[in-house]
Amino acid sequence: MTKPVVGVLALQGDFAEHIAVLRRLGAETREVRLPADLAGLDALIIPGGESTTIGKLAAEYELIEPLRKFGAARPVWGTCAGAILLSRDATRAKHGQPLLGLMDITVQRNAFGRQVDSFETSLDVPALAAVADDNPPFSAVFIRAPMIESADAPDVEVLASLEDGTIVAARQGKLLATSFHPELNQDDRFHQYFLSLLP
Ligand code: GLN
Repeated sequence: MTKPVVGVLALQGDFAEHIAVLRRLGAETREVRLPADLAGLDALIIPGGESTTIGKLAAEYELIEPLRKFGAARPVWGTCAGAILLSRDATRAKHGQPLLGLMDITVQRNAFGRQVDSFETSLDVPALAAVADDNPPFSAVFIRAPMIESADAPDVEVLASLEDGTIVAARQGKLLATSFHPELNQDDRFHQYFLSLLP
């Protein structure tokens, strides 16, 4: 079997951590900075960071349309800022901030307030049972995270919610959005799950 080639958008944010996990799982990786870097990729991750900065740089490098085209055909996973980029709509977005509009979700930027800017919590993610023999709770790191305010199409599947019902992970076909940062702990199950979406 040939190794999948997975790109990680490397304009800003914690792309290096995603690359480290993907390599650990045996995928080939490529940093994506220009439209030409998308050629031949099997899938793409848009990392956490600052969605306004990532969006601005993506517009400057003329990546917005190529990213939309890519995401219409192949698996894309957005973590945190990346989830904002993937969304169709973002409340509290900066005026004019570009969104890819690939996934039918509405997110709310910086949804968890200043005093709890960052926190870690355990999540039940039943879907991860597909890639792991046992499926203990996933320890999720939230850093000035967005929440997924609503799933706006019938085929958006909620993968994980906080105890109060706030949606923090969702999937629509081959598109995946997580409010938190699975690349920041040593638990590779979310990356394995993403790789399982590849044909
Ligand atoms: N608050 C950031 C934004 O709005 C996201 C934070 C993150 O990616 N950790 O883009």
